[in-house]
Amino acid sequence: MSFTLARFVLLHSRVCSEAATTTKNNGGLISTLNKRKFTSTAIPRAQNKTSEELLVVVGGGAAGVYGAIRAKTLAPNLNVVVIEKGKPLSKVKISGGGRCNVTNGHCVDNKMLAENYPRGHKELRGAFFNVHGPVDTMSWFSEHGVRLKIEDDGRVFPVSNSSSTIIDCLMSESTRLGVSLQTGKAVITASPTAGGKFLLGIEKRTFSSPEYVEADYLLIASGNSKQGYSLASQLGHSIVDPVPSLFTFKIEDPRLADLSGITFPIVKATLKIENARRNIPQLTQVGPVLVTHWGFSGPAILRLSAWGACVLSRTLIVDFTPDVHIEDLKSILTQHKNRFAKQKLSNSYPSEFGLVKRFWIYILGRQGLLGDTLWASISKNSLISLAHMLKHCNFYVTGKSQYKDEFVTAGGVPLSEISMNTMESKIQSHLFFAGEVLNVDGITGGFNFQNAWDIFDKLDGPDEEAAADGYERPDNTVLNLFSPLFPVTRPSWSRRSEFPRPADLCLTAYVNQ
Ligand SMILES: Cc1cc2nc3c(=O)[nH]c(=O)nc-3n(C[C@H](O)[C@H](O)[C@H](O)COP(=O)(O)OP(=O)(O)OC[C@H]3O[C@@H](n4cnc5c(N)ncnc54)[C@H](O)[C@@H]3O)c2cc1C
Repeated sequence: MSFTLARFVLLHSRVCSEAATTTKNNGGLISTLNKRKFTSTAIPRAQNKTSEELLVVVGGGAAGVYGAIRAKTLAPNLNVVVIEKGKPLSKVKISGGGRCNVTNGHCVDNKMLAENYPRGHKELRGAFFNVHGPVDTMSWFSEHGVRLKIEDDGRVFPVSNSSSTIIDCLMSESTRLGVSLQTGKAVITASPTAGGKFLLGIEKRTFSSPEYVEADYLLIASGNSKQGYSLASQLGHSIVDPVPSLFTFKIEDPRLADLSGITFPIVKATLKIENARRNIPQLTQVGPVLVTHWGFSGPAILRLSAWGACVLSRTLIVDFTPDVHIEDLKSILTQHKNRFAKQKLSNSYPSEFGLVKRFWIYILGRQGLLGDTLWASISKNSLISLAHMLKHCNFYVTGKSQYKDEFVTAGGVPLSEISMNTMESKIQSHLFFAGEVLNVDGITGGFNFQNAWDIFDKLDGPDEEAAADGYERPDNTVLNLFSPLFPVTRPSWSRRSEFPRPADLCLTAYVNQ
């Protein structure tokens, strides 16, 4: 077994000192820090405390890279190494159709925000977003030179309309801070050591035998990779079966292909669950739907796919006229019959429904009515059936298709095994999780990246020495990795405690040198 920790530490302490010089010269950083009143007694100890410690981040995606940046910002002397088996930030690159929808700008209320997470909505309802919500994400990127815009539907994009802007920002910030990014390597095994550390087996793409590294802290941010779930299991965590979320519905109906390209601005779509014991309100969604050559897509369908990701449902019921009551529908159809008795069914239909002709003909076909039939010869029962068809049109869902702009995985490490204050494992101390590896997923609109940016740190254990020196550890020792350390939009620090943690003292120490 070969231990290469020494190499890591050597390499990273050099990078660290370079980073410290750069950060020290950052005027904004110094001036904001100087506003804080910190005691100096614990500073040298705190600084020493982290200087030999190593945080290994598994995965160089959004959560891993951002987590590494925040760890390095809060604890500059900590050695932070990101191990990425492929290309870093590869999903960020393709996200949002290449534009990267970084967060959602319409959800300022935490409860409202949490409602956008089919897995996680209960757990995220509390203080989770207080420390780092969409406003903090926007502030962070703005402070780091990325100009953002909020589109009408709340999605937040870089003004450049290019995900490269986000990637460049994250990569240059991690380089500036001295985060080490090692690509082409995968963490394949993890086990706790007797000394409370982690022994990690790391495999290079080019080498067959793994090398071993001992880490003081471990952040698993491996997205939906099986390897990541396996690491979590090796460290004692259970895994909620991963299933795709955010997909479009394949529908078995050859006639539907003729409608490909039609958009319904507003329908009410419901997934029917056989033998459901209770009504699940989120399995009904109202909004635009698009007919594709394989089935249905569009915002209402994507929301439905996310909420219904873990339920087995084959029946989709669509109300194509959600604003018109069934009785009104019947009377509108009856009036139309009386007024246009001599017209053919295919040539004339009530404009009140706002439907396109191709769809009207489809509905007639589903009712077994021929387009050449005159309105005069339509029976009352046929009119009632037509009304029912428009309100409760059943479709048989045969499968899922990936939505090209965004898809995510539901399932992963259960939130019940994580402290929601710190994102630290309740099973293994000094082990943290972030991003898609957790059993959290959002609907489309920037909520998934918002989850990836939400990670907390608790990178130091109890510090008796500091306490003896008069350093009082706050009750809530949590510091969100992504909460703005130097708040622009809101004073997150003062909400929690006036007492800094050792990691912050480190930062103060070298800035004040
Ligand atoms: C096409 C597409 C478009 C999307 N668009 C948006 C959008 O616009 N807005 C939005 O909010 N969300 C979007 N998402 C979802 C979003 O990309 C994810 O929620 C987010 O990337 C999750 O970040 P992560 O860091 O947790 O995981 P990932 O981005 O998947 O990163 C995990 C990384 O870990 C690496 N890794 C895994 N296992 C190991 C290992 N054992 N050792 C080393 N490295 C490992 C992987 O190679 C990967 O790079 C989109 C997703 C897709 C697929």
